[in-house]
Amino acid sequence: MRGLSPVVRGPQYDSARVDGKRYLITPGPTPVPPEVVAAESAPLHHHRSPDFRTLLGETLERLQRVFETEHDVLLFTGSGTAAMESAIANLLSPGDRIVVASAGNFGERWLKLARAYGIEPVHVEHGWGERLDPDRIAAAAGEADTVAVYVTQSETSTGVVHDVESIARAVRPTGALVVVDAVSSLGGVELAVDAWGIDVAVAGAQKALMCPPGLAFASVSPRAWEQSDRATLPRHYLSWRVAAESQRKNDTAFTPAVTIVAALHKALELIEARGKDAIWAHNRRLAYGAREGVKALGLDLYGPDDETSAMVTAFLMPDGIDGQKCYSILRDRHGIVLAGGQGKLRGRIMRIGHMGFMNEFDIVTALAGLELALAELGYRSPVPGAGAARAIEVFAGG
Ligand SMILES: *Cc1c(COP(=O)(O)O)cnc(C)c1O
Repeated sequence: MRGLSPVVRGPQYDSARVDGKRYLITPGPTPVPPEVVAAESAPLHHHRSPDFRTLLGETLERLQRVFETEHDVLLFTGSGTAAMESAIANLLSPGDRIVVASAGNFGERWLKLARAYGIEPVHVEHGWGERLDPDRIAAAAGEADTVAVYVTQSETSTGVVHDVESIARAVRPTGALVVVDAVSSLGGVELAVDAWGIDVAVAGAQKALMCPPGLAFASVSPRAWEQSDRATLPRHYLSWRVAAESQRKNDTAFTPAVTIVAALHKALELIEARGKDAIWAHNRRLAYGAREGVKALGLDLYGPDDETSAMVTAFLMPDGIDGQKCYSILRDRHGIVLAGGQGKLRGRIMRIGHMGFMNEFDIVTALAGLELALAELGYRSPVPGAGAARAIEVFAGG
């Protein structure tokens, strides 16, 4: 170590702790743009007022455009899991056969939700970090009387974005409904609900849609509506029918998260102004910089090293280094919030989120902070600043 120059001698303080400076570089909740914060902070609408109904109606139309569907997109106050749960409760009856295909923590959430309603799914299990295999899923869905197949688009726990277009195409001939968890992918990578034949896609406000948490959405195809009319599992707060009857009058059945609807109205306006293609390209670019930076630090990626992993970059911790400790140092000392590993990956991997309101400097900050935290835990970057330097090289066109 070189000695400190006289310039930086003297009492030091941790800016993160003292100034509360924070860098939220996680796969959700993600940072919220200032215009969205402003929209959320406007004086509260009453949810039965004409102003709010107009806002809600416009928001629902914008949601349909993000989902790329002409059918209903239903809005629930709750986190993304509320919309996932609605896709179990509204579609199924006791004893129904469903297929859940998983390759990570969020895929497995479908199992937990189904079991909570007394449904035991056929589990097409893949290794964590693998890609879902459309043929295996279609083969399981092809067995008699399969009502629905439940999959994940962006598996946030591993960084893998699954090819739900191919999965939907493979499952279609079996007649089973295709239900997609798009909570962390909607608005961040391509998802064409109608064109791809997806019956139900669920999403949440706090990931690529750049809003605070508190709203969940479910798109419902005509086939899914027919199935929901036959289904007998209990539901009320999450009933699609109850939600749709109010929404068709630009109203909600229950008091919605009014401020988050105002935030979402603005966020969807920003997304439309940017253009989806430009957002997807931006995310792929940030992801590429993140992957290259991680590798330059001498770390191994977890999951595939290709441009489909545009939402989250997951990487393994060096031998003997606890990812949770690294996470805590980054958060508490440097104010940089990344994500650790979930479930069986806890402590073994870390994740950089790059969906929503993120740019090149978030990636550079994450990589620079990671290098400092790893150094504190005894791991040295091959060259000082290697991760940030490589990311800058990528962003400069290298
Ligand atoms: C964040 C997320 C969810 C939902 O989580 P909530 O905490 O309920 O919002 C579901 N699936 C995926 C893939 C996610 O990333």
